[in-house]
Amino acid sequence: MTEQSPAEERSSYRICPLCEACCGLEVRTRGDQVVGIRGAVNDVFSAGYICPKGYALKDLHEDPDRLRTPLIRRGGELVSASWDEAFAEIERRLLPILAEHGRDAVGLAVGNPSAHKFGLLLYFSRLAKALGTKNVFSASTLDQMPKQLSSGLMFGHWLSIAVPDIERSDYLLVIGANPVASNGSLWTVPDFRGKAKAMRARGGRLVVIDPRRTETAEVADEHLAVRPGADVFLLAGMVHTLFDEGLVRLGRLDAQVNGLDAVRQAMLPFVPERLAARCGIAAADIRRLARELAAAPRGCVYARIGTCTQSFGTLNSWLVDVLNVLTAKLDEPGGAMFPRSAAFANNTAGKPGSGRGIVTGRHKSRVSGAPEVFGELPMTVLAEEIETPGAGQIRALISVACNPVLSSPGGPRLARALDSLDFMLSLDIYVNETTRHADVVLPGWSPLQESHYDVAFPQLSFRNHARYSAPVFAPPAGHPPEWQTLLRLAAIAQGLGAQADVLALDDELVEADVRKLAGDATPGVMQAVSAQRGPDRLLELALRTGPYGNLFGMKRVDPALALGLGLGADGLTLAKVQAAPGGIDLGPLQPRIPEMLRTPSGRIELAPISLLADLPRALADLDTPAPDLVVIGRRDVRSNNSWMHNLPTLAKGPFRGTALLHPSDAARLNLADGAAAQMSSDHGAVAVVVELSTAMSPGVVSLPHGWGHDLPGARLALAAQRPGANLNALLDDQQRDPLSGNAVLSGVAVRLAAHPAGA
Ligand code: SF4
Repeated sequence: MTEQSPAEERSSYRICPLCEACCGLEVRTRGDQVVGIRGAVNDVFSAGYICPKGYALKDLHEDPDRLRTPLIRRGGELVSASWDEAFAEIERRLLPILAEHGRDAVGLAVGNPSAHKFGLLLYFSRLAKALGTKNVFSASTLDQMPKQLSSGLMFGHWLSIAVPDIERSDYLLVIGANPVASNGSLWTVPDFRGKAKAMRARGGRLVVIDPRRTETAEVADEHLAVRPGADVFLLAGMVHTLFDEGLVRLGRLDAQVNGLDAVRQAMLPFVPERLAARCGIAAADIRRLARELAAAPRGCVYARIGTCTQSFGTLNSWLVDVLNVLTAKLDEPGGAMFPRSAAFANNTAGKPGSGRGIVTGRHKSRVSGAPEVFGELPMTVLAEEIETPGAGQIRALISVACNPVLSSPGGPRLARALDSLDFMLSLDIYVNETTRHADVVLPGWSPLQESHYDVAFPQLSFRNHARYSAPVFAPPAGHPPEWQTLLRLAAIAQGLGAQADVLALDDELVEADVRKLAGDATPGVMQAVSAQRGPDRLLELALRTGPYGNLFGMKRVDPALALGLGLGADGLTLAKVQAAPGGIDLGPLQPRIPEMLRTPSGRIELAPISLLADLPRALADLDTPAPDLVVIGRRDVRSNNSWMHNLPTLAKGPFRGTALLHPSDAARLNLADGAAAQMSSDHGAVAVVVELSTAMSPGVVSLPHGWGHDLPGARLALAAQRPGANLNALLDDQQRDPLSGNAVLSGVAVRLAAHPAGA
């Protein structure tokens, strides 16, 4: 960052931190003011694209409700405090709990904004390790753990997730996803609309399966409405058809796949004609979709949140990749491919072609017995783990950038549980519906005040790239960066005290990491990265030891790669990425099997035992009658996290938290457009505003997640003006996908009636 005169206008580059698409933004500033934001046309990845949320980065930076100082609860109120006071209070309250009740007495919960702050993401694991608790929770078990689990079982690592190579596709079957609104989820694809349009312009075909005619369905060649929660029957019926009609073709992967016959046997009962009524799609269409996929020269199936947030989430996620494997669409240009991330990707580390694979269930939750997956327990067991007495009861919670009171089923129950904690600490930039329960709140910096590199999203991107954001503004005086805050908490948890030298601690931890990698060469490597501290140093290490780096001179960069990408003999370094404001393009996705596999067999495991064992549960569900009305969520281009409802740019315009209902259901229920209604389930009731829409399937109502900003103590003034309804107050926190622990958010039976109080 260079000094800037107050009158001078300056342009800075920043990766947008507001959703998974990670667009490059050009942020224009004058002095300490943001005067404009637009898509960065020189961005090698997003090429100038921006959605309405991107402009709201200015609102986030300027939001008066965004916290600038720590808060401590005094006399029942959260009041401003100094950093020293806050850390002293944490030490005073936390250490006795750890000493008396052990490590598992402290829960850790982290939300998805941490993925957009690399200091927070990289140092959260330092805190988790220092705490040593088994009670770790994240937003993954609210939307994506099924895909992580099925990918781990099949390919050997949780983030080895195949994404559509859309720029070379001519067929894309999208199930339970709305990328026109989201620009991808577990698939980083800015300007999906433009890419889908280009695919169709070159003769490609886009098909969307969703209970609602979504914005993506509106631009598709075909839309088919599936019954919520019944995708497993569509997918299994398609796999059955491939075997039944002799359409299976593994292509290049023929020698790389274990379990083909086991899948063939397992799919025998899933005859489309038997499944059609349950999934709401005609048998002829199920068979046709399978034939279309098999016949497409380049294409794939992509499925996301609607298929994950149901009790068959892991089966769905698995069957999607089974379809791609069986039709020779996996790891092929134009199909579903594995990105080659420049840094932090486990599928580029270690011995290429095989590994330890994954295990789950190394421990279980104390009350429900839910298995650990990826080191985490389901977010939906958090409330019962706080409420239920006994050894291992959670008595203190550290929440990091999350709001499960609004985003997790059983939100009201969780809110009551949080009030019963002995101590709660939140790292958050807002006092939201969850952090209002905290005893201490520690704020982070505005995204515009810190550097950034995406750790996870290049592992999910439609094209390989490396991009870095320098801070746009100077950091706030006297306010530590989040990575140092997390290290200080780690020091407290380890008994080193709130006054510990966190920079020295960082040196120690980094050196221990480097020693595992470099052995005797450790001093030289540490010297080579001595110009950096914190997450920037971890990034430098990751880039130089990554697939495009030269391992500090210990290996030769693949000459073809280095020359082709213009990286030179030293390969990729932090300085090179920093010197490229629009990022470095690392080319289109390349076939990576078998090199990227980390399964013990060194093959794709097409028939993991735990997944085959779950199929009878799906068959047993085949005759389940459809409830009169079920609820699903929806994604809006102006929303992603609940705090976005507090940003003026995104909050303006029509209210987006309505309950979308088909006119035939409205007539049956005697509800008019705009009517006040009560939506209820066996678990709660909320007041909603009805909006009629022929985009909905009859028997399905859509209410978006993340609303319900009318709870006392939250400090989101703008959001509170139009609070909306908390869908999660209706959802059962005991309903989970048994394999991944993911919450069931879709296809839950609800009732809808005129609100007893009228308007
Ligand atoms: S799609 Fe919008 S919110 Fe998402 S990264 Fe791009 S500009 Fe930001």
